[in-house]
Amino acid sequence: MVDNPRVGVLGGGQLGRMLIEAANRLNIQVNVLDAAASPAKQISAHDGHIEGSFKDAAAVKKLAQISDVVTVEIEHVDTNMLEEVASEVIVEPSWKTLRIIKDKYAQKHHLKEHGVAVADSIDLEGKGPDGLKEVGTQYGYPFMLKSKTEAYDGRGNFVVKSEESVDAAIEALGNRPLYAERWADFRLELAVMVVKTKDGVLTFPTVETVHEDSICKLTYAPPRDVSEATAQRAQDLAKKAISAFEGKGVFGVEMFLLKDDSLLVNEIAPRPHNSGHYTIEACPISQYDAHLRAILDLPISQASLRLREPSIMLNILGGKTPDSHIQVKNKALESPNASVHLYGKGDARPGRKMGHITITAPTLAAAEREMQPLIDFVDEQNG
Ligand code: ATP
Ligand code: MG
Ligand code: MG
Repeated sequence: MVDNPRVGVLGGGQLGRMLIEAANRLNIQVNVLDAAASPAKQISAHDGHIEGSFKDAAAVKKLAQISDVVTVEIEHVDTNMLEEVASEVIVEPSWKTLRIIKDKYAQKHHLKEHGVAVADSIDLEGKGPDGLKEVGTQYGYPFMLKSKTEAYDGRGNFVVKSEESVDAAIEALGNRPLYAERWADFRLELAVMVVKTKDGVLTFPTVETVHEDSICKLTYAPPRDVSEATAQRAQDLAKKAISAFEGKGVFGVEMFLLKDDSLLVNEIAPRPHNSGHYTIEACPISQYDAHLRAILDLPISQASLRLREPSIMLNILGGKTPDSHIQVKNKALESPNASVHLYGKGDARPGRKMGHITITAPTLAAAEREMQPLIDFVDEQNG
């Protein structure tokens, strides 16, 4: 590896922005491929950025030419071009991993083949309403209809509640490549950030994630009402899941904890992840530090991935007004242990991730007491 490596990132959203915050502290130049004033570019002034789309082959090639290592902050990228440039530049994680993960059905299939428990699923490509009704007969209702590709924040999911809602499901997602998943009647959701290095696989602690309308709202570290043994099992499962993929970097592993205490992997992200934001304040090194170190072969100790203090992260989602996130930020600034992050996305749109707040405290109960007024405020804003 060259002495002062330049990192190229496909995507310049909030994850790229927080990656740059970490890179800046190590004097690492990050070249971002995205639109001109994207959140990541706003905090990084140099002439190595590329303007364009991370789905555009020519733009990806350009980025590769001016970078020593290429990575991603989003998986919906042109993996064909990444495959092509991989002979000239280091691509982490591997384009093969990105190609599998960007298709959620292929990802499920891959995990299953490697002995990782996932929800049952059925391919629906080329099948119409009758295909969905057959799933209803086989799985019962509700079941989850999912787009294989381009899915995020629940945009790509539809809960099929009964045979009567099949038409609405087709109406909502019918023009996308689809598959169906058996309903996971979970007690709660867990997530683990996994770090894959040249030497092995490490994990951050297990967190509990709370989703509302399929969008992550809160994370709790440690999880509430989950035994240490279960948290350890979640870390082990996450490790096993990520061991099934090639390449280095951080990966987010989302899991369901079912009522019988068994765990299923919901999905994997081959990059920093919303469920790992808490690591910025709560762990010795953050998921962003860890990602950079992993792809650049810099040292990472398992001890630096530990939880220093219990923490809760609350997403600031766009509410009813374009300035709703500003109001939440102002309220959070009054909270003594709150770290406030805004992403520089301009006006809020309902449900859009505009920022987040992390509170750490000596106990989770103390963090909960301090976070509750902010949760109430956010609920009022979004009401
Ligand atoms: P992300 O923003 O995390 O990429 P996504 O759009 O890819 O989200 P999923 O992770 O597939 O969506 O699903 C979002 C949420 O919907 C899950 O966290 C869970 O709350 C719920 N969900 C997904 N699949 C199932 C299922 N099979 N059974 C029950 N609930 C589910
Ligand atoms: Mg997803
Ligand atoms: Mg998800």
